[in-house]
Amino acid sequence: MTLQDLLTDCASVADRLLAWFATDARDLPWRRARTPYRVWVAEVMLQQTRVDTVVAYYDRFLSHFPSVQALAGAPLESVLKAWEGLGYYARARNLHAAAQHIMTAHGGHLPNTFEGLLALPGVGRYIAGAVASIAFGQAVAAVDGNARRVLCRVFAIREDAAQPAVQRELEALAARLLPTGQPGAFNEALMELGATVCTPRSPRCNGCPLGTLCKARLAGDAESLPVRRARPRVPHYDVAAAVTWDGDGRVLVAQRRADDMLGGLWEFPGGKREGDETLPECLTREIREELDVEIEVGGLLTVVSHAYTHFRITLHAFLCRWASGEPRCLECAAFQWVRPDELDGLPMSVADRKVAQALQAHLVGLAGQPPVRAHTAPPAPPALDGAG
Ligand code: SF4
Repeated sequence: MTLQDLLTDCASVADRLLAWFATDARDLPWRRARTPYRVWVAEVMLQQTRVDTVVAYYDRFLSHFPSVQALAGAPLESVLKAWEGLGYYARARNLHAAAQHIMTAHGGHLPNTFEGLLALPGVGRYIAGAVASIAFGQAVAAVDGNARRVLCRVFAIREDAAQPAVQRELEALAARLLPTGQPGAFNEALMELGATVCTPRSPRCNGCPLGTLCKARLAGDAESLPVRRARPRVPHYDVAAAVTWDGDGRVLVAQRRADDMLGGLWEFPGGKREGDETLPECLTREIREELDVEIEVGGLLTVVSHAYTHFRITLHAFLCRWASGEPRCLECAAFQWVRPDELDGLPMSVADRKVAQALQAHLVGLAGQPPVRAHTAPPAPPALDGAG
């Protein structure tokens, strides 16, 4: 392809995408009343999370934290609580830290340049590009996975799009495509086409505004692009968690350290099974290491399966009884004894929330018995090989 061919194609791609986006863009909450803050929150939520999921959270989060100032002034725990279920909690911690930085260093106003945004906690090249172009009209590209797929197909790029060097090439290509005066609309249109038309499987080429330009379509191999590496096998771990009663109707929960995965969230303490230890042995060791207390491990409460990005877990939650020792945090940020009905107010991961719900359902099921006392004496220990 000559340079002139490429430039001609670039102009056509931009024109067609903008015309299509003007009529076919989805009506999404963050597109209704655009302010830099609303755009920023949306882009942080949308990174790693599907649009359908974000829609369910976005307005509620903004009603809790309607401005940079409100977000910066809120306790981190309440931000994590509003984020509960969205996953990738580092995003919430960084959003909170960035809001505080914006208050102190920028007078409460988001920086309006790519470089200024890039300096904020948790803001990478994609979010900086999206906010700079959509909220401030800056002529910078924003290339997410959807946009990468479209670019690879339209220009028949057959290199591994997961490689950083290839991603930079795609960013440069997207920057070349940007039309004068409408960078934000173009970036959104490119991503929207990837999300709704140029999907990973069965792209709808017949209804695509780029159909007559698209080299992958013309070559008949659109679905084979972008080139995908073989993914390494995702490891699986058995994890045990203790729902430990104190003899006074309260259970023990621990807060994860800020720098750990799921930092700041509350959990039923426990950890990963090592070697050939049984789940009760694992749990006894973990609680000793984490909180310096001895527990008696009782019956299995529930088993929860959960997939994270790089591994999967099977979480075995046991009813336990505090036996001896005053808890102290050896491997956690904080601990507290709470009544079961107070668990709803604590930010928890999806897996721990399922354990909390199983506990509440279990208490409801204990007909005729006061729930508190029923659990001060745990059932007989389970079979040593656990469940699930
Ligand atoms: Fe994607 Fe098909 Fe459109 Fe090409 S023609 S951009 S492969 S939907």
